[in-house]
Parts: sequence; C-alpha cells; structure tokens
Amino acid sequence: MSIQLQIDATDGPARVGRLTLPHGVVETPVFMPVGTVASVKGVPQDVLEELGVQILLNNTYHLYLRPGVETIRRIGGLHRFMSWDRSILTDSGGFQVFSLNELRKVSEEGVTFRSHLDGSSHFFSPESAMAAQIGLGADIIMAFDECTEYPADRERARSSMEMTLRWAERSKKYFEQHKSEVPWADQTQSLFGIVQGGMDLKLRRESALRTVEIGFPGYAIGGLSVGEPRELTREIVESTLEHLPADKPRYLMGVGTPEEIAEYARMGVDMMDCVLPTRAARHGLLFTLKVKVYMKQTQYAQDEGPLDPQCGCRVCGRYSRAYLRHLYASNELLAQVLNTVHNVAYYLDTMRAVRHSIQLGERARFLSERCGPNP
Ligand SMILES: [Zn+2]
Repeated sequence: MSIQLQIDATDGPARVGRLTLPHGVVETPVFMPVGTVASVKGVPQDVLEELGVQILLNNTYHLYLRPGVETIRRIGGLHRFMSWDRSILTDSGGFQVFSLNELRKVSEEGVTFRSHLDGSSHFFSPESAMAAQIGLGADIIMAFDECTEYPADRERARSSMEMTLRWAERSKKYFEQHKSEVPWADQTQSLFGIVQGGMDLKLRRESALRTVEIGFPGYAIGGLSVGEPRELTREIVESTLEHLPADKPRYLMGVGTPEEIAEYARMGVDMMDCVLPTRAARHGLLFTLKVKVYMKQTQYAQDEGPLDPQCGCRVCGRYSRAYLRHLYASNELLAQVLNTVHNVAYYLDTMRAVRHSIQLGERARFLSERCGPNP
C-alpha cells in the first residue's frame, strides 16, 4: 500500500485525517512548504522538522534542469539527496513550463521549452515528466497537465482540458509500466490526477468526472491562482470538490494566504502548497495573528516586543521586532532565514488550528448551544 487516507473526524464538508505515505504519516488538512530546488530557501532540514513539517513540495522543472534527474536518481532519490526522511511531493513541471517560458511550443506530443538558466532547448511529454518524477522519487507525483491560461474563452478552455485528460491517461500508463523503477526499495509512489477546465464550472465538473474515471489514488485542482479574482477561485474550488471522491485525498495547488488556506480546508481540501509564506518572508512581509508586519516600516525600529506574541516558534521566542527590522534593513542573510522560519511556523500553526477546530466541530457547537447565554 503506497498511500492510505484515514478520515478521523468531519465537520460539514471539512475533514481531519491521516495520510500514510512510504515516508511517514501526514496529518491533514496539511500545508506543504515549497522547496523549489530541494531546499526551502534559507531553512535547514532539521529546523523544518522542528517546525513539524511532515511533507515538502519540490519542483520537477527546476531539479530536472539542475542538478538533473540522473544525479538525484543515482544518489537514491530526493529523500537521500536532501537528507529528508519525511514525505515529499513533486509537481509535474507543467506549471513552470507554462509560467516561466514565453517561448514554449505546445503540441499533442508535449511541450518544447527553453531553460530559464541558459536558454537551452528541452522537451517535456507526459512520459518524460513521469520518468523524471520516478527518478526523483517523491512519495506523491503529479500527472503532466496543461495549466490553462487566464483569461481563456470556453473553446480554448475545453480543448486545453481535453488535452490534459489525454495526457493524464498517458501519464498513468507510463507510470504503471515504470513505477517499480523508483530509486528506493520495496514501495511505490502514488500518481495524482489534476482537474483543469479554466474558470468554467461545467468544464471543471466534466474534467473532475473524467479524471476520476481514469482513476487515481488522489486528485488535485490545478489551474487556479493564475490571476483570476479570489471570489472566482473560491467558487471553482467549492464546486469542483463536490465531484471528487470523499475517500481520496484532494489537493488544491498553489494557494494562498493564511485566511484562504483555512477557508479551503473548511471546504474539504486536504492538501495545499504555496510560495507565499517563503517568498513574502524574503521580502520582509511577516504574518502574525493580529496584523501583517512589514519589516520595511520604521515603526518597528525601537520595538522590543516579539514578532508575534502568540507564536511559539524559535524566532518569536528569542528575537525582538527591532532586531528583525535591523537585519532586514541591513539586508542580512539572517533576516531571510528568521523571517522564513516564522512564516512557515505561522502557516503550519494555522493548519493545526484548523484541524483542531474541525475535530472539535460538532462537539463545540453542541456545547455552545447547551452552555450558551440564557435568554
Ligand atoms: Zn514565530
């Protein structure tokens, strides 16, 4: 068994569960920090463990270009390469090919693109994207899809969705034939399908149903957070979730703010990833329970208080806002490190709180009705 989802509690559409993978158990709903090139920028792996990270996301596109899949495969896969014994998910490379490459050429066979590093020409197909992800050896890998651009008219969204469905079948076929080639021992990876369909609710429904028909051990909602208004993202997520099987993990790709990830978890999403906490940290934007702290602002120069009095992370336990502001203003490397540690801690704490509230869910409502103020 390479993947198993056990649901422990539900509250409306929301659920709390445990996802068992070859490299450990992941409590869901989970936020997965992004480690683009097999590194969460600025944060060593032991600190990620201390923060309670149970699963990381790595980008196939970046690792394929550098250091190359073969280098990582020969070392025994990503877990050994980056000294990370816990779970890993890789994306298919599709999203980066579409977002970083203006010169890409898409055909039925696959996508020709240029490296953003040296301009060299490369080709990804469903088969080669699977081969790359099998070589990297994450616990969960993703079907090769086309991320439909926004805005796209209905015809364009449909033809893109149809191609993603054909690519999903090819991804699955290749994976089934080659899954025993994963560079670590006796278990196999799990391949997730991806729902596309642009911003059209009917196409999303059709994409979900037909992807489920192909059959995967988990399903992702892709092609969102591509410039559309947030209200539309929310609507698409909510309506797509209805068509995904309740006993399989559901992964919403590439969202969002702390408020949004809490909201999506409440809708029944089990897994999410986003570059926001790590990218924002490097730009001096820190999330706290009460306010967003912009380290740019001079008001923190004399502030001896902790960054977030409610946060239990090693940064908030030790350093003042004044010191963090100074590091940021001086462009010290340590600013990026400490800011990222806190933001990742904040996102993980947000998901912990969401899991707790789902667990308490009905019981909490029952108690508040029984023990609420008397009329
Ligand atoms: Zn903190």
